[in-house]
Amino acid sequence: MDYTNEKPFIAGNWKMHKTVPEALDIVQELYEASMDLKEKAHLVVIPPFTALSEVGRVLKSSSVLTGAQNMHWEEKGAFTGEEAASMLKDVGCTFVVIGHSERRQYFGETDETVNKKIKAALAHDLIPIMCIGETLEERENGSTMDKVGRQILDGQEGLDAEQVRQIIVAYEPIWAIGTGLTATPDQAQEVHAFIRKSLAEKHGNETASCAIILYGGSVKPENTYSLLKEKDINGALVGGASLKAVSFADIAREAIKAYEEK
Ligand code: PEP
Repeated sequence: MDYTNEKPFIAGNWKMHKTVPEALDIVQELYEASMDLKEKAHLVVIPPFTALSEVGRVLKSSSVLTGAQNMHWEEKGAFTGEEAASMLKDVGCTFVVIGHSERRQYFGETDETVNKKIKAALAHDLIPIMCIGETLEERENGSTMDKVGRQILDGQEGLDAEQVRQIIVAYEPIWAIGTGLTATPDQAQEVHAFIRKSLAEKHGNETASCAIILYGGSVKPENTYSLLKEKDINGALVGGASLKAVSFADIAREAIKAYEEK
């Protein structure tokens, strides 16, 4: 993969926010705010589908890349309301989020559909950002690793090491998404290390050591440094705090600082 974990990877998921004019305002600001960051971090914005094309156009001459929030696994056809991988490529996407917990919770996504989408994304040279994570109940009853382990195994079923090396994994404890609750650096590190170990067991140490594993769940400038200082945390998938260019750029700055010091 062209993206390595030698520098932090910060992606902003805008979810269902921002009209096209609002999106253009934020990327214009981001363009300026990220000038000094481009050599030191991978920066990605993930707007709603309606703004993807325009955002991509504005960011074309910057180092900030774009991703989509979802896709369908079929090439084309009668799938009202869905977008195919080729259509995302058409509007300049490099990344696609697959299996976000909100998609799993509200739109019936399963590890099986995640697996189909990952295969289709890879076939079209899109880099999947594969989201996994446990509910509060699962954390409390001690089944976090079972859940995360199964999501990795089933979601990546049938893929070889080379394909797995193209995937970015985002560990997002569901209880921390949009709630203001963040996993402690220790809690997050424990799961990230487990994910890396699972990748090593299945696909070897080289695949595991180069994997980009993001943390997501109420990341903001104030908690980025302590999370990113952890050995196995390579970046962040940011929701709410990515909706303002300044806080997104501040998160990137904190991540760079943590990376330089780890
Ligand atoms: C997300 O949408 O993936 C997310 C982590 O959201 P937030 O940062 O708002 O918790």
